[in-house]
Amino acid sequence: MKKQNKLLSLLLSLFLLLFTLAPQSALTVYADANGDMAVHFIDIGQGNAILVQSGGQNLLYDGGDPSHADLLISYLQQQNVETIDYMIASHYDEDHIGGLVPCIDDFSVSNIFGPDYVHTSNLFNNFMNTATANAIIVQYPSVGETFDFGTGSFTVLAPDGISQNSNDNSLVIKLENGSNSFIFTGDAEETSEQDMISTGMNLDCDVLSVGHHGSASSTTWDFLAATSPSYAVISCGIDNQYHHPSADTMGRLSDMGIPVFRTDKQGTIIAVSDGTNITWSQEPCNDYSAGGSSAASSGQNETAVSDPAPAQTENAGADIGTMVWIPATGKKYHSIPNCGRMNPDNARQISKSDAESRGYQACSKCW
Ligand SMILES: [Zn+2]
Ligand SMILES: [Zn+2]
Repeated sequence: MKKQNKLLSLLLSLFLLLFTLAPQSALTVYADANGDMAVHFIDIGQGNAILVQSGGQNLLYDGGDPSHADLLISYLQQQNVETIDYMIASHYDEDHIGGLVPCIDDFSVSNIFGPDYVHTSNLFNNFMNTATANAIIVQYPSVGETFDFGTGSFTVLAPDGISQNSNDNSLVIKLENGSNSFIFTGDAEETSEQDMISTGMNLDCDVLSVGHHGSASSTTWDFLAATSPSYAVISCGIDNQYHHPSADTMGRLSDMGIPVFRTDKQGTIIAVSDGTNITWSQEPCNDYSAGGSSAASSGQNETAVSDPAPAQTENAGADIGTMVWIPATGKKYHSIPNCGRMNPDNARQISKSDAESRGYQACSKCW
């Protein structure tokens, strides 16, 4: 009798253990049924990275900044990605192509698409050189061009020309699967939105990946009216220095009653389209607060509101430059990858500001 009880309690604890582990398996949801298309809005901090899987094909739209590249690569590996059929760089800003560069080396990439302009940064040169070293020619598709992908297709909506504003050069696509559609805007701002509207193309969609991390210069009333999304997804970092998303954009989304998902509040978000319906890995957070509002009590952030430009440069110098090591488990950040009993193989490097915003504290031994 006693033995049976022991067995029962063992089974019960095993069941409880499996039950507590269950939420993690949501991350391995992917398009497995015929006709499915899975869209992963990957949480890579302040930046943008979207993986689409369908019919055994993979599309990667943006890859976040260089400090989150390891995170991106392990996420793709977790989703069994070996070949990237389409790699799309929306534009050449750091928070979009940083993670793409190592992906060109680490995965078999069939096509790279981007906008046709030159960005004066080492990262841009690195991106182009890495493509060349892997015998891949970066292609510049035109507005209106459509490409088959998995069980659906995608169509290029922008840019219609090249401007001085890197963001407005964003390669915007509309991804379709059956009657479901998604628009990925990169960092496209008002000018590009107006250009898209004036082409007369059908911009209506189910899911809008909100432009420029929800900044006020994107997602205008006109564009929201033209796209009339059933859901909006915002990719931005927790308490990011730019205060993305803006109160203006969040106000517009709220006024239009559009349910909102946010990577800064919810981590990675996955939508699976079966061609008729879209199911989500979690409910929309519908948190319409502006970015950085939770940090409003800090005096430094308040001065940033009255004088944003210098404060931003200061933050950029102080925060982005410093990199720290974080272990696979634990809540301390370190100056070295093998402090104490840390396993250096599982440690990864992220920016100090990112570590702090995720609740990590300095290690008293090495920091
Ligand atoms: Zn960006
Ligand atoms: Zn940008």
